[in-house]
Amino acid sequence: MASIALKSFIGLRQTTSENKSIVLTKPNTQTYHKIRINASKTSPRVNGRNLKVAVVGGGPAGGAAAETLAKGGIETILFERKMDNCKPCGGAIPLCMVGEFDLPLDIIDRRVTKMKMISPSNVAVDIGQTLKPHEYIGMVRREVLDAYLRDRAATAGATVINGLLLKMDLPKSTGSPYKLHYTDYNAKTGGAGEKKTMEADAVIGADGANSRVAKNINAGEYEYAIAFQERIKISDDKMKYYENLAEMYVGDDVSPDFYGWVFPTCDHVAVGTGTVTHKGDIKKLQIAPRLRARDKIEGGKIIRVEAPPIPEHPRPRRVLDRVALVGDAAGYVTKCSGEGIYFAAKSGRMCAEAIVEGSENGIRMVDESDLRKYLEKWDKTYWPPYKVLDVLQKVFSRSNPPREAFVEMCADEYVQKMTFDSYLYKKVVPGNPLDDLKLAVNPIGSLVRANPLRREMEKLSV
Ligand SMILES: Cc1cc2nc3c(=O)[nH]c(=O)nc-3n(C[C@H](O)[C@H](O)[C@H](O)COP(=O)(O)OP(=O)(O)OC[C@H]3O[C@@H](n4cnc5c(N)ncnc54)[C@H](O)[C@@H]3O)c2cc1C
Repeated sequence: MASIALKSFIGLRQTTSENKSIVLTKPNTQTYHKIRINASKTSPRVNGRNLKVAVVGGGPAGGAAAETLAKGGIETILFERKMDNCKPCGGAIPLCMVGEFDLPLDIIDRRVTKMKMISPSNVAVDIGQTLKPHEYIGMVRREVLDAYLRDRAATAGATVINGLLLKMDLPKSTGSPYKLHYTDYNAKTGGAGEKKTMEADAVIGADGANSRVAKNINAGEYEYAIAFQERIKISDDKMKYYENLAEMYVGDDVSPDFYGWVFPTCDHVAVGTGTVTHKGDIKKLQIAPRLRARDKIEGGKIIRVEAPPIPEHPRPRRVLDRVALVGDAAGYVTKCSGEGIYFAAKSGRMCAEAIVEGSENGIRMVDESDLRKYLEKWDKTYWPPYKVLDVLQKVFSRSNPPREAFVEMCADEYVQKMTFDSYLYKKVVPGNPLDDLKLAVNPIGSLVRANPLRREMEKLSV
């Protein structure tokens, strides 16, 4: 699975033949002169109007893309099938997203400053001591965040349509438009909506894990995890415990390859688990986090059950001609942590920036080479953290002893600081060499200690 992820990233990072920067060398002479010619943009101007881009899907990826496009002079249409959509999600966002996307503080329901990592044998390690007073993980309601980003796109000039994309006809000739077939729920025709079509010069697929845009461009499938989540309303007393605390459970009982969680949301907790390899057992696995957290959620009432897919690696194809995929549609969720909100918004924005730049603020037609610039930038920026989490999942998700070792390692303050800094700021933070050495030695020590533990457990199971 990981090798697929690696391949798809590397494959798509290769420079395309459309590269406009041509290096000419003069052969057969004593002195070689390298002449770099930077070709000027040759794509045709869009006459009498601005470039028109349809963004399908109004989650964080679509909202961020539409806002950037509209601000950049593009005629922008944003389609969202359900305006009050509450995407099944934990709703945890890193601190840097608040600043980078200029989010108002009142959409953050809770500030998580403490985490408990709980091992297979129920050893709990507290994480969060290294956080500075202003640092936290933000917990948002997705219906609130998504609506806020869509409204901001509308304020910037995007037209937001309450519509469901049904299918898309690809252009019949170079430069001709895409034809989008959709059901328009804005129309005053009752619940069934009205079938309509619209043409666009380019399309951004931000329509989530089951993307229709991805199907239309034959983008290929990705491996996915199933996340099973129960939203449980617990008493105010019990809620106090989870006020600013999230719990993560690891163990064979919870998941063979993921983790279980109790996340606080605005007025309830989300209890869940996920798996890639044992999807058929997901309901059985869900019993484990419920049981392990039982004292703290006892008497709670299940108010909603959700079981959506989480992409495990990027799709084989993320750009074709004038169509690009972003967010979950592209497959940008980190392994191990299952985080995708920030990456969705970031990829939406990055893709839109490439279109604004390539079209010179909407006056020229774009082509695949413009959209590939988004891919190149994305892969260069985020390939390392994705790969690190991929490797981490492999090392620590094999069996219970390495998981015990992992939880033990989480007690280390330096590990906590590096992990939190990387999560909160999405930067690979340069470490202190001495502490790095300790970091390298600690997991080895933990794993060495885990081996006798594994042997002991094997003896017990004979
Ligand atoms: C149980 C669970 C918990 C999670 N917890 C976290 C977490 O705590 N933190 C985190 O960072 N990530 C989390 N994730 C991942 C995160 O939810 C996604 O990565 C993120 O929502 C991706 O955003 P997106 O905009 O790409 O897609 P989505 O959020 O899926 O948005 C797609 C939008 O497109 C719309 N749409 C779909 N099809 C069409 C169509 N044909 N026409 C028009 N509109 C359409 C949908 O209604 C939706 O609004 C979790 C995921 C799951 C499943």
